[in-house]
Amino acid sequence: MLTLTCPYCGTHADETELAPGGEAHLKRFGPGSSDEDFEDYLFRRANPKGVHFERWRHAYGCGKWFLAARCTTTLEVYGTYPAQTTEPPEHILETIAAKRPGWSWEADT
Ligand SMILES: [Zn+2]
Repeated sequence: MLTLTCPYCGTHADETELAPGGEAHLKRFGPGSSDEDFEDYLFRRANPKGVHFERWRHAYGCGKWFLAARCTTTLEVYGTYPAQTTEPPEHILETIAAKRPGWSWEADT
């Protein structure tokens, strides 16, 4: 079972207390953008086998949105952090890189 630590209230919440919100760190496109960019923003999501950055809400707890970095195959959680963060914190990137040599964060993806 997936267990995430809410960065706001500190609760170790299992997935029954959480609501998934999809991929994190999407670049938003709105009016005036090209059709392709807007379509990508609305519909296309990464579905990696490995490290993934996701949005979660502590629905049956404090109710706040947060972000999590985890492995989709092993459910290993690399860390959670506030939803207002535009890029993963450096300590989480270092944790992932230490466990997965060769892995790197690409800000434009
Ligand atoms: Zn919480």
